[in-house]
Amino acid sequence: MKYISTRGGIAPISFSEAVMMGLATDGGLLLPEEIIPVDHETLASWQDLSYRQLAFEVISRFVGDIPPADLKDLIDRSYDSFSHPDITPLVKVDDIHVLELFHGPTFAFKDVALQFLGNVFEYLLKKSGGKMNILGATSGDTGSAAIYGVRGKDNINIFILHPLGRVSRIQELQMTTVTDANVFNIALRGTFDDGQAIVKSIFNDIPFKEKYCLGAVNSINWARILAQVVYYLYAALRLRSGEGCEKVDFAVPTGNFGDIFAGYVARQMAPGLIGKLVLATNENDLLTRFVNSGEYSLGQVTQTSSPSMDIQVSSNFERYLYYLNDRNPERTREAMEQFGSTGCLEFDQASRHRVRSEFCSRTVNEEETSATIASFNQRGYLLDPHTAVGVKAAQDFIEDGVPMVCLATAHPAKFGGAVALAIGREPDLPPTLAAMLDQDSRSEALDADVEVIKGYVAGHAL
Ligand SMILES: *Cc1c(COP(=O)(O)O)cnc(C)c1O
Repeated sequence: MKYISTRGGIAPISFSEAVMMGLATDGGLLLPEEIIPVDHETLASWQDLSYRQLAFEVISRFVGDIPPADLKDLIDRSYDSFSHPDITPLVKVDDIHVLELFHGPTFAFKDVALQFLGNVFEYLLKKSGGKMNILGATSGDTGSAAIYGVRGKDNINIFILHPLGRVSRIQELQMTTVTDANVFNIALRGTFDDGQAIVKSIFNDIPFKEKYCLGAVNSINWARILAQVVYYLYAALRLRSGEGCEKVDFAVPTGNFGDIFAGYVARQMAPGLIGKLVLATNENDLLTRFVNSGEYSLGQVTQTSSPSMDIQVSSNFERYLYYLNDRNPERTREAMEQFGSTGCLEFDQASRHRVRSEFCSRTVNEEETSATIASFNQRGYLLDPHTAVGVKAAQDFIEDGVPMVCLATAHPAKFGGAVALAIGREPDLPPTLAAMLDQDSRSEALDADVEVIKGYVAGHAL
């Protein structure tokens, strides 16, 4: 399997090269040359596989240059860190099947992808004799999942900037209690936007980037999308045998278009099995406006109770745009250039029609999110606010005889404040989170200044 750029500016590369490249060097995003549908017999043979076995079957279709035994080992080790035997279990609450993606080490769905990516990075660096210094800024969730993905790994150091005093206590501890020698938590005296701007500016200093082998773990890495494709197929296959249905619909709380794009790939692999994809957004409704009215335009970011979806530019959107443009890289590049200069994209009638045939969408406001948490709590199931957005949107699109799965992207205890507002009490902390309150923590408070951060990275880089 070879990988190309959505903007057409690179010669086809291998899976390993695509993982190490992250963002394509022409500014586009990397995609497999082809997504080959899985035939009926193969799909039937996947019916009873365990999560790890299915992950191997799915992922190996997109990897050409890692020996199968090695790939299998990478996958097994990635999911050994999950606390549930099913890795991503399904829980039925009335007419919704909640797909719990939060049984990894940081209690959010990003672990599914970042545990795998961390192992792939370590494996490829060992083979090439290279090293990597990962640099990223976080508003909370991604930072801890990235840190847990690479803690203790050989030939990798990680530097994560979080805004000092502006992440929740639990989010902070999930990062700063990781005291492995290769983990550097920087508590920035500034905002998340300051952190992002600093990281961007450091990556733009090409000599610095090359000298220190800087790497990123953001949501545009193809390996992350690929790891997420697995749970769509896993859930759909389980329900097909359990419920005797032919197809399964999915509702996905999203902001970056990452998780929902993984569903789009899963549906290309198994078009008869994966049905509707319901794209759920919070009040930051850029993607809902795109689906329902065919315009993709920048808005102001509004803070909500589901902060991991408070996003107004969706980093994975370009991947879908490429398919919408019938896989034409010139048109995709032109559209992204236009978006870069005007902050707006408009689509013709045919494209709008196609988008509406491929996705359903709904935006869910704060009041609805809170009410959904409360009503599910009365039925004995506690939702986190991100998942509540997905569940609320899902309810509009349920069809008789077609199971509706909603992706549960975080454990409710990670967002205890919002949950408490909805139900009048804080959710219980899982024991591993509760234990963090007493653990040693380590971080370095630094000024929000590019030169200061560069100096720190240079002083601690591999
Ligand atoms: C990152 C995140 C999301 C959104 O993921 P996308 O990549 O934008 O689809 C949703 N919920 C939680 C808890 C997250 O951490």
